[in-house]
Amino acid sequence: MKEMVLTQRILAHAAATPDKVALRMGGEQLTYGELAQKGKKQVEILSAWRKHHPAMMLSMGEKKLAPVVGMLGCLLSRRPYVVLDPGAPTLRQDQIIQDVEDAGPDLPGLAYLMYTSGSTGRPKGVQISRDNLDFFLGATRNLPLEPPGEAVWLTHALWSFDLSVLPLWQGLARGDRVVWLDTSRGVDFPKLAGEMAASGATCWVSTPSFARLWLRDPGFGEGMLPRLTLFFFCGEVLEPGLALALMERFPRARVINAYGPTEATVAATLMRIPWELAERREPLPVGRPLAGVSLAIAGQNGELLPYGQEGEILIGGPGVGEGYRGLPDLTRERFFTRDGIPWYRTGDLGRLENGLLWFHGRRDLQVKYRGCRIELGDLEENLLALPQVTGAVAALAEGRLAALVTTVPGAGMDSRELLRALGERLTPSLLPQRVFFTDALPMTPQGKIDRRAAGALLEQRMKGR
Ligand code: AMP
Repeated sequence: MKEMVLTQRILAHAAATPDKVALRMGGEQLTYGELAQKGKKQVEILSAWRKHHPAMMLSMGEKKLAPVVGMLGCLLSRRPYVVLDPGAPTLRQDQIIQDVEDAGPDLPGLAYLMYTSGSTGRPKGVQISRDNLDFFLGATRNLPLEPPGEAVWLTHALWSFDLSVLPLWQGLARGDRVVWLDTSRGVDFPKLAGEMAASGATCWVSTPSFARLWLRDPGFGEGMLPRLTLFFFCGEVLEPGLALALMERFPRARVINAYGPTEATVAATLMRIPWELAERREPLPVGRPLAGVSLAIAGQNGELLPYGQEGEILIGGPGVGEGYRGLPDLTRERFFTRDGIPWYRTGDLGRLENGLLWFHGRRDLQVKYRGCRIELGDLEENLLALPQVTGAVAALAEGRLAALVTTVPGAGMDSRELLRALGERLTPSLLPQRVFFTDALPMTPQGKIDRRAAGALLEQRMKGR
C-alpha cells in the first residue's frame, strides 16, 4: 500500500518547519514537529497493541488534540480511523464500535469510516479510501487562499463529521495552521469570540447554520476577524441572505458554496458566490464539479436526463467512496461502476444548467436540521424502540424537527420523559425539538402512514393550533 500524499506532506512540513504551530484548540497547541513525533509514536503503539486490529476508534474527550494525533497515527500505519461523536449516548457509540469489530481485518486501503444517520435506526459507516482522501485534497488544494503555509483555518466541525476533513487535512497538508473551536458542549459565544479574535484566521469552514448563529453578535465582523478572506460552506442550503450579510460584514472575504455527501468525500462541487448573484435573493447554485469529478442527472428509472431537467444527482469519479460497512445491499443500491468510473446515487434532486449544479431538495426522508444529516427513519425507529411507543412519524415542521407518537394505553409518559428516554439512544443533534402525542397516526387508504397529513398536523401543532 503506497504512502499517502497527505502524510508525506505533513512529515515534510515537520522536517522543514518543526516549530511552526500546526494545531490550536482552546489552550492546547501542537507544532508540526510535535505532531509528527507523536503521530510516529502512535504507529509504534498501534503495531504493538492489537496487532491485527484494522481500525482505531477515537473518542473526542477532554484532550482535544489527542484524537488528531491518533488519526495521523492511523493514516501513517495504514489503518482507518473512526471518530466517535462525543455527544452520542453509549448505546449509539456501542453500535458503531460493534460495527467496526464486525469488520474484522477487512478494511484495507481505507483512510476513515464516517458514521451517518441510517434509515433503519442504526448509524451506517461510509468507507472512504486513502486514494479518495488524497484525490479530494488534491482537487481542493488551490482554493483562493493565501500561499501555502500562511493560511489559518478556523472550524468548529467535529472530527466525526466529514466537513472537518477539509480544514484539518487540507490545512495540515499545506503546512498551514488549523484552529478548532470546541462547540461539542454548546456554543459559548463570549469564549469562542475571544478564541476567534486571537486566531488570526484567514479561512472559515462551517455549515451555514453555524455562521448564522454568529450574525446575532454585532461584534462578528472584520473587527473580530481582520484577516479573514474566505468563507467555505458545505453541508446544507446556503441562503442568499446569509451570503449577503457576511459579505457586508466582511467586505474583503469571498463566500464559497460547496456541495457533496460524505459518500463522495466531503464535496463534489463548489463555486464562489458573487455579490450580484446573492443580491437576486434566489436559490444559489452549488457550483461546478471539482477537477476529475463527473456529474449526471438521472430520471425515475435511472435514465440520464438532458441539461436543465430535474432529477437525481449522480456523482462520479475518484472521490466516490467504497460503500457502506457491512451493508452490501444498500451499497449496491447507491454505488455502481460505469466505464470503469465509480458513481454514487446521492438521493438529492437537482439540475445542471450553464455548467452549474442546482440543489432542489431530497427524494427520500433524509433532512438537514441545524447542519446535521438526519434520516427521519432513524428517529422513528428509535422512538419505536421505546417500550411505551406504538407508532411514530417525524418531520420538519415550522423549520423544526418534530415527531408525532402514539403510546400504549396508560403509558403515562409526558414529552419530557419521552425525550429523556430517546436521549439514551440518539445523539443530541438527532433529537426532535418537540414530540406530540396523538391517539392515532394519519393513514393512507393503503394503510401506510400518511406522511403528508402527519406533516400538516405537526405544522399545526408547532404553530400551537
Ligand atoms: P453530509 O453527508 O452530512 O455532508 O450531507 C450531505 C447532504 O447534505 C447532501 O446529500 C445534500 O442533501 C446536503 N448538502 C450538502 N451540501 C449542500 C449545499 N451546498 N446545498 C444544499 N444541500 C447540501
